[in-house]
Amino acid sequence: MIESVATLGSHCALQVLKGAKDEGFRTVVVTKRGREGVYRRFGFIDEFLVVDEFGEIASEEITEALKGLRSVLVPHGTLISEVGIERAERLGVPIFGNRWLLRWEADRELKGKLMREAGFELPREFSSPEEIDRLCIVKRHGAAGGRGYFLAWDKESYERGVEELKRMGISGKFYIQEYVLGVPAYLHFFYSPLSGEVELLGADIRYESDVDALGRIPAECQRGIKPGYTVVGNIPLVLRESLLEKVFELGEGFVDASKRLVPPGVIGPFCIEGVFTKEARFVAFEFSARIVAGTNLYIDGSPYSSLLFGKPVSMGRRIAMELRKALDEGRIEEVLT
Ligand code: AMP
Repeated sequence: MIESVATLGSHCALQVLKGAKDEGFRTVVVTKRGREGVYRRFGFIDEFLVVDEFGEIASEEITEALKGLRSVLVPHGTLISEVGIERAERLGVPIFGNRWLLRWEADRELKGKLMREAGFELPREFSSPEEIDRLCIVKRHGAAGGRGYFLAWDKESYERGVEELKRMGISGKFYIQEYVLGVPAYLHFFYSPLSGEVELLGADIRYESDVDALGRIPAECQRGIKPGYTVVGNIPLVLRESLLEKVFELGEGFVDASKRLVPPGVIGPFCIEGVFTKEARFVAFEFSARIVAGTNLYIDGSPYSSLLFGKPVSMGRRIAMELRKALDEGRIEEVLT
């Protein structure tokens, strides 16, 4: 039996726990020492499990405490970045969603495989710098928040970029991808295994420093600047209505592919990340197989969630609604792994 909703205290914890409270669950935050004061400022968190490192969520002490509280854990970006996939997969508490899919998000090879299976249009990949014949974005494996990305348009510019990163102390495996010209869009979906429906709950644009600053200075001053892609925040986006058909096709393609490759498939929130080109094609370069921080824009609901539910439903609350329904219908095992 599930009685409470737990999450790590960062990323989108406030939204997840507020949503859980609104649906009548007790709420639990696993917070770092020193940060619990932030969470105590809000009235909707019932239990505080204080740790020195988020990795301690995998310890016997915290696992037992979560079991005692009959908690389900809602995973988010911090679970992946600070606890790691191996420990997340082995966690001894039930997770809302498909824990086996997290690995497919973190590993570039698996990620590409799932996106191809979903039928997405993807940027071209180049396996060696000699092959580069157009503008490319070079990414580090496992780079978080775009740090360590650079642009290259031939072998020489690639090598210069790698050298520069080395001087900054960044090395490792690099991944060369065609740079797709278009406007970025991050599409927030929710898949309900209970209803079999894919819902669009919102969209956002990441505000990235300093690539988004370039348009603020004239072209002659831009010469020599190497844009960075460090995420600073998120900007809301409402899509042109005629794009929605394509957007649902993307969401459904992802759900079907995840069911085939990573059973039981995606459960709950996921995000497809890419650019819309001027021909209104969507070229995807990433996905997240769990709630993304961009949904924090819509704690009071988004234009799409208000159309769907007629009340303010954040992604966090949507998760709690699914848990509540699954409990009421005796189908809880369909939304947990
Ligand atoms: P990512 O970490 O892959 O989400 O990428 C971080 C940022 O880099 C994105 O938000 C985009 O601004 C940019 N980006 C990544 N891949 C591409 C691409 N193939 N074409 C154009 N821009 C990209």
